[in-house]
Amino acid sequence: MKKCIYCKREISDLSVIDFCDKCGIATFGDKMFYAIVKNMKEAGLRGDLDQGRFWPVSFKNILILEKLSKMLKRKPIKAKGKIRLSEYFEKFKVGDRVAIKRELSVRPKFPKRLQGRSGIVSNKKGKSYIVKINDFEKEKTYIIHPVHLRKLKWY
Ligand SMILES: [Zn+2]
Repeated sequence: MKKCIYCKREISDLSVIDFCDKCGIATFGDKMFYAIVKNMKEAGLRGDLDQGRFWPVSFKNILILEKLSKMLKRKPIKAKGKIRLSEYFEKFKVGDRVAIKRELSVRPKFPKRLQGRSGIVSNKKGKSYIVKINDFEKEKTYIIHPVHLRKLKWY
């Protein structure tokens, strides 16, 4: 049984958050609280939370996810629908350090939470690159189109 991180009352193991409704509402206000629960459930259904690694979700993660979803919702009006061709066809070398910046005009095929992370190009696959990312403790590889990558100059 999980326990509320605030009042230690028992909550359902199936709960997507790790605090009880009462404390959630007290902390966030009811509108925000229901929005968080809804977001977490939807994200879970979509698989964005990557098979349970985010469950039980900690308070800090919720704030991060909230911030990310706000960040990712839209681009500045001027940048909307525009992709620079140099970005689209940007070439990377094996060993290049890259930042991941989700290009929303192209439907990304990798999890939301990779936004803003950095990784190292380990190979090329078709038009995309195999990028090694230290995902919390584990090192994982993702195949990412160059449009979502930016070269980092510092090492
Ligand atoms: Zn509580």
